[in-house]
Order: sequence, then structure tokens, then C-alpha cells
Amino acid sequence: MKIDILSIFPEMFAGVLGSSILKKAEEKGAVSYRVTNFRDYADNKHQTVDDYPYGGGAGMVLKPQPIFDAVSSLSEGNEKKPRVILLCPQGERHSQAKAEELAKEAHLIFICGHYEGYDERIREHLITDEISIGDYVLTGGELGAMVIVDSVVRLLPDVLGNEESHRKDSYSSGLLEHPHYTRPADFRGMKVPETLTSGNHSKIEEWRIKESLRRTWKRRPDLLEAYTLTDLEAKLLDEVKKEE
Ligand code: SAM
Repeated sequence: MKIDILSIFPEMFAGVLGSSILKKAEEKGAVSYRVTNFRDYADNKHQTVDDYPYGGGAGMVLKPQPIFDAVSSLSEGNEKKPRVILLCPQGERHSQAKAEELAKEAHLIFICGHYEGYDERIREHLITDEISIGDYVLTGGELGAMVIVDSVVRLLPDVLGNEESHRKDSYSSGLLEHPHYTRPADFRGMKVPETLTSGNHSKIEEWRIKESLRRTWKRRPDLLEAYTLTDLEAKLLDEVKKEE
């Protein structure tokens, strides 16, 4: 996968793309990142990328020309059109399902806004997706792009050590994940549930399903409404409801 990020603050990305799993993913060849300052594409002497809004009002608006030209240049040589993603508080809320959809693409281009926002023609004629990372307003799209890139790259083949590990994550399966414990079995009187230390793998698996259902039922009952329970899950959820 190729990931392009357009930002007027490219220096913000070095720490995130150069650390941990995102860095390893690039070293393994699963992804390549390119962060471009779209100021470099401005066709005016002072490399201005913003201007006053028509009709007056507060704040500056990002001009269309540098962003249109940057996207066109970064898409050159592509067999298939890239997904061009605008970070925007008014967009579709980001989700695990969206990350899974984007992980199937060969080329993603993220456009990070700043100031008051963008010229509307960018939204109308250039982009394929508009994504928000939550119902709040940030100063720029950079943090949003990092969040989405992280959620997508960890899903690419061979990026996580164990392919199974993301399939069981919260939201991937449709439920929240069960709790985890590690050694010691008794930490200052706080004990690990006995089933987990029993060595009985089918009992452990059942415990995990049940605790995943308990978490989801208590914290995110809306997820259960959209989820189809197996017979075993329905039985375990009944038990949970009686226990709580
Ligand atoms: N005036 C805009 C509005 O009310 O919708 C907000 C502009 S915001 C200050 C500047 C930029 O930050 C946006 O263009 C977008 O790129 C980014 N941004 C802000 N909040 C965001 C969010 N929740 N998700 C994704 N990007 C966001």
C-alpha cells in the first residue's frame, strides 16, 4: 500500500510513522509513506495556500489549486484511482469497518486541513471520502490522518505478528474483546480467574466468549443489537444477564 499525506505541517508525522508497528510495517515493505507539504505545489510567488473567505467572516480558507495539483501529481502512474480522503469534522465517523475497507486499497491520499476549512470545490470535485475522527473540532487534520493510518496499516497482511490478533480485537468481531491477564496469577491478593490458569482450552475459550459478551452488554449494548448470536453465545449471554 502507498500512503500519501498532504499537510502544511509535515514535521508532525515523523514520530508516529517512524515508531513501533507503523515503522516496522514500512521496513517489511507492507506500506510506504510519503508526507508532502502542499505549499510546494502553490503556483504563486509566496507559496500561499489560503485566502480570505468570499462573503467575509473569520478565518482563512485553503485554496483549491495547491491541493488539486498535489493530488494530481501524486496520483501519476497509478493504474487505479487512489482513494482521496479529506479529514473533516463533518465527515463520516471513522470506524473499524471503514479501516477494513481502506486496508484493501493500493493507494490512499490524505488531505489535512487547517484554519477555517477548505474551498468547497475540493470536497465536491476531488475527494472520494470525507472522514471525521469524532464529534469535536481539532486545529488541523494531521492527528486525524495519523489515527486513520494507524487503524489501517495494522490490518495489512503480515504487519501484526499474529494474523489472528486483529480479528479478535474489539469491533472486528462485532463485540468488545474479553479482558486479559498476565503473570503473576496472584498480584497482591488480586487473583487471575481460575479458568484461565486451568489449562483447559475449551473452558478458556468459553470464558473468553462469555466475558466478551458481558463487556459488550454492559458497555456497548448497541453493538449487540447489530450482532447475530450463535446458540452458544445466546446461552452464555443469558447466563451473564442472570449473574449481573
Ligand atoms: N470550520 C470547520 C467546521 O466547523 O466544520 C472546522 C475546521 S478545523 C478548525 C480545521 C481542520 O481540522 C479541518 O479542515 C479538518 O481537516 C481538521 N479537523 C478538525 N476536526 C476534525 C475531526 N473531528 N476529524 C477529522 N479532521 C478534523
